[in-house]
Amino acid sequence: MRFDVITLFPEMFAALTDYGITRRAHEQGLWRLATWNPRDFTTDAHRTVDDRPFGGGPGMVMLAEPLALAVEAARGAQATPGRVIAFAPAGRPLTDARVKEWSSAGALTLVCGRYEGVDQRFLDACVDEVVSIGDFVMSGGEIAALALIDAIVRQLPGALKEASAADESFAAGLLDGPHYTRPEVWRGLGVPPVLLSGHHADIARWRREQALRITAERRPDLIEAARRQNLLSAADEKVLRVVSPGRKARI
Ligand code: SAM
Repeated sequence: MRFDVITLFPEMFAALTDYGITRRAHEQGLWRLATWNPRDFTTDAHRTVDDRPFGGGPGMVMLAEPLALAVEAARGAQATPGRVIAFAPAGRPLTDARVKEWSSAGALTLVCGRYEGVDQRFLDACVDEVVSIGDFVMSGGEIAALALIDAIVRQLPGALKEASAADESFAAGLLDGPHYTRPEVWRGLGVPPVLLSGHHADIARWRREQALRITAERRPDLIEAARRQNLLSAADEKVLRVVSPGRKARI
């Protein structure tokens, strides 16, 4: 898979190419990265990429033309040009479903905003989707792009060494439960005995119960969504009646 990132700070993407699972997958050739700096698509001596907002107000706005030229160059370098995604707090929330959908795209172009954001006409003319990674404001879209690329790369076949992404949060509609490792007692705190029992069916049941409990506590919206998708069994509903007795369970 190929990612073309439009960014004023291409060095930030070494966080993916130089570390961990994404680095290994990059070395294996599972994904490749090209960065495009909007400054390289300016024509003035100062390589200007921003200007004051029409209508007044604080901050600067990224110019449409250098961004459009960068996107066109990036898409021109893709064998089959893929979707163009920009980042903004006002975008649609990024979800596991979107990550999985995009992981089968051959190429994506990601546009990282800075300053107060980018000229709306560029978004209207050149961008397919605007994505938010949460209800907070960062200084730029680079961290959002890093998060999206990392999440997609984990989904690429061969990227994860052992544990499959199928066991992780959201894969079955629930959050992941707690994990423990050696020593058996750490600072006086033990490990749930079932995990030491060697009884695989009991361990699997306990893990499912923990996932249900944590999801019901922290993200009741995910429990409702799992119900709508018929992902919960009668045994799951029984667990939910105990861990969140206040909530009405539909079986
Ligand atoms: N004026 C914008 C607003 O109030 O929504 C904030 C602009 S922010 C300071 C600069 C850039 O950071 C945005 O254009 C976007 O690319 C990126 N950004 C900031 N927070 C983000 C978030 N939660 N999700 C995705 N991108 C974000």
